[in-house]
Amino acid sequence: MKRLERKINIGISACQLGAKVRYNFKGWDMLGYLKREKELFIWHPICPEVLSELGVPRKPIRLVGGNGDDFWDNKAIVKNSNGQQVNHEIIRGMTESLEFLKRVKADVFIYMEGSPSCGVYRTTLKNSRLGKPPGIFGSLLLKENIFLIPSSDLQSPIKWWDWRRRMYAYIWLKEQNFEKADEIYEIWHTLKFLVQEINRQNADEIGRKLSMLKTYDFQKRNEIKKEIMDLLRKPSSTEKIKNMLWKNYKYLSKKYGLKSEKIMEPSELRNITHLAEEVLEIEKLSNLESLSFGSSPISIMLKKD
Ligand code: SF4
Repeated sequence: MKRLERKINIGISACQLGAKVRYNFKGWDMLGYLKREKELFIWHPICPEVLSELGVPRKPIRLVGGNGDDFWDNKAIVKNSNGQQVNHEIIRGMTESLEFLKRVKADVFIYMEGSPSCGVYRTTLKNSRLGKPPGIFGSLLLKENIFLIPSSDLQSPIKWWDWRRRMYAYIWLKEQNFEKADEIYEIWHTLKFLVQEINRQNADEIGRKLSMLKTYDFQKRNEIKKEIMDLLRKPSSTEKIKNMLWKNYKYLSKKYGLKSEKIMEPSELRNITHLAEEVLEIEKLSNLESLSFGSSPISIMLKKD
């Protein structure tokens, strides 16, 4: 069983931590959904538009001529609803926001999807239109080694569990430096069930590359590490979670005698809340017995202050 032994630094769009910093004085406390679990992390709220000195309340802004990437390539501009260009303010504020995240050593950023600034895969709140993703700050975040989570997924216990286990695995892997040549195989052994669940085909491809890896080829080793990290950013699905949970449970129960009345076969009907309870139960039981649970291979163990 592998563990992270420190608190994770998480940056978050300030309006998702309850600060009323949106252009219209709104904000939502999405961390309320995590209940006491939120105490496991150190939170760093930031509002890139407020740091751009646009203030609250302010005129909403929009990208003109392209997306956030285009903005940083000088191919798009940002205007407020009065038609005024606010490029200079935005460049300063968003660059400072990224500097802030680097200063606090943020491993993760929880972003508000749908914002022209913090949005990553959507820059409008109207579901029928994706806008022009990524947003201006989202574009900067995507270029960094920061694990990105949409705040709306904090509402769903199973989606949050999926993000949380991949986040631990991502950060743990990021911290591995492969001092010894064979460490990559141990790492792969730890993470492969999770990666297989996310994308079986890509996982098999990684296994194939590892079998052909030359001992001295550090560059290739780092490429494979990057490939695994990129896969860990991708969400799983309820079906895949159910199937892999059952596979892992059967293994743990046969090999170590782990038993739980809660765990159901993949074909049995249950709601999402029950599935979240199942994965949390196996996670808890395997942690207690110091067993590795393939679906959630990295846990967090904090030293008492
Ligand atoms: S989405 Fe980002 S820029 Fe917009 S109010 Fe929230 S924190 Fe500020």
